[in-house]
Formats: sequence, C-alpha cells, structure tokens
Amino acid sequence: MVPPFRCSPGRTRRRRAHQAIKAEHTTLCPNCGAAKRSHTACSSCGYVRPGLQIKTGKGPSA
Ligand SMILES: [Zn+2]
Repeated sequence: MVPPFRCSPGRTRRRRAHQAIKAEHTTLCPNCGAAKRSHTACSSCGYVRPGLQIKTGKGPSA
C-alpha cells in the first residue's frame, strides 16, 4: 500500500497542534495543603476523603 497523497508539512503541523501535553491538573489537599491530583490519594499524607486515609511511608500518620 502506498499513500495516494503525501501530507504537506503545514497539514502535519496543524494536525499535531492538538497533541501538546498539558500540565497535570492538581488541587490542594484539604488535610495537609500539598498539591494532589483530584480523585486520588494525597501523595504526602495519604488523605483520600473524610473518613479514609491510607498509610504512606512519609506521612505523620505512618
Ligand atoms: Zn495531604
């Protein structure tokens, strides 16, 4: 199979204009104030939601 038409450099760049990597969206942990990804456990203190906090090796509760 041979592609019938070759994409021009401008068309390739227009297509790849949507492929940039965006910065990771973070929220502040309500327990310790560190930046954490939403809907995940805090990486510094292990806080997930009220009533649930998992153990981490570096938190004060560990
Ligand atoms: Zn935290």
